[in-house]
Amino acid sequence: MSYVLGLKCRECGEKYPQKGVHVCEVCFGPLEVQYDYAAMRGKVTRESIESKPRNLWRYRDLLPINGEPKAGLSSGWTPLRRAHNLEKVLGVKELYIKDDSANYPTWSYKERVVSVAITKAIELGYDTVGCASTGNLANSVAAHAAVAGLKAFVMIPHDLEQGKVLGSLIFGPTMVRIEGNYDDVNRLCSEIADKYKWAIVNVNLRPFYTEGAKTFGFEVAEQLGWRLPKHTVCPTAGGTILPKIYKAYQEFIDLGLVADNAPKIYSAQAAGCNPVVEAIRAGHDLIKPQKPKTIAKSIAIGNPADGFYVVQAVKQSGGWGEDATDAEIVDAIKLLARTEGTWTEPAGGTTLAATIKLINSGRIPRDESICVCITGNGLKTVEVVVDQLEPPTSIPPKLDAFDALMATYQAQQAKTPAKVPAGV
Ligand SMILES: *Cc1c(COP(=O)(O)O)cnc(C)c1O
Ligand SMILES: [Zn+2]
Repeated sequence: MSYVLGLKCRECGEKYPQKGVHVCEVCFGPLEVQYDYAAMRGKVTRESIESKPRNLWRYRDLLPINGEPKAGLSSGWTPLRRAHNLEKVLGVKELYIKDDSANYPTWSYKERVVSVAITKAIELGYDTVGCASTGNLANSVAAHAAVAGLKAFVMIPHDLEQGKVLGSLIFGPTMVRIEGNYDDVNRLCSEIADKYKWAIVNVNLRPFYTEGAKTFGFEVAEQLGWRLPKHTVCPTAGGTILPKIYKAYQEFIDLGLVADNAPKIYSAQAAGCNPVVEAIRAGHDLIKPQKPKTIAKSIAIGNPADGFYVVQAVKQSGGWGEDATDAEIVDAIKLLARTEGTWTEPAGGTTLAATIKLINSGRIPRDESICVCITGNGLKTVEVVVDQLEPPTSIPPKLDAFDALMATYQAQQAKTPAKVPAGV
């Protein structure tokens, strides 16, 4: 049973059958999946969802596949945790971390979009998949393609962190480093998709791929006990996840699965690559492309494909945008680790840093529920903290050596009161 009707142009409404196309032939607008929402009424319920296994496919009725899922059967359903320690530090009442640094098998939000795209690629008869990636997408495509037995070509900018490079190579794809930034990689991948007729997951399979990102929002709502956070802060790179979280919230509201609390959504970007935040601040709909310069490489997209839709969702919801410098990003990575035991990559540091600034500026009230979207794992980006952490002391295996160390430690403790809250 599938509720998918086909594809439709977001701008002019032209309809297309389900196939590997993403741009309208009439007006060059982006295509989006259409569903038969009327037929879902009374059939897609809290109970129907709760009866399914705890992975991202429990929301399959709202995803664009026709047959059975072919990838990501253990992906999704990541922790949504109440962040009590962080609440104390930030002086807020109700804060949650939705933690996709724990998303199986390659530890980022990209499992969601890739699980759907790979399933769709198999449905449409492709034997080769590919992607233009800032790292995490390549990791996820390589892993899921390996399981599905598909050939994989993953294209990345030449200057990514080693964890991101090895994190793809281990799965045996063909990896190509492109001598340029992400926007150069993306442009090349559009030409490759046209010429080689592969399923480039975030290019010609984009309408299907992006729908997978809704599962992040569905999970937040269900895990909160079928309610929505009032404020959701989300990183923006190409602009897939933010509008899709907002769409997920609206779909659940429309199906009567959650109450409409008029949820607001906020975009977080690095100060060194903030085209969407700049547009939000200036009140513009159009995005002025930038040349990225930031440690937050996974979200360093200077010309975001769906930036326009991020601005629309943020505006429509009454949210806002905020950015963070590289130093603020690293501080936030450390803060999240030292309060909540979650090690995120710079994208997550950006989101937490932006959340803190939105709270301090009064944009997000301290007494309303807040969800911080953590989208990637810090183990892949050790470069950004390696010079920021004091290396451990080394001593001979002797108790008197340890005693000497303790004397220094206690003297230090007496001078500097602990900054972390009690219980950490
Ligand atoms: C891809 C990615 C994002 C968001 O990207 P969008 O293109 O805006 O969906 C956020 N965080 C991490 C870690 C990512 O890899
Ligand atoms: Zn069109």
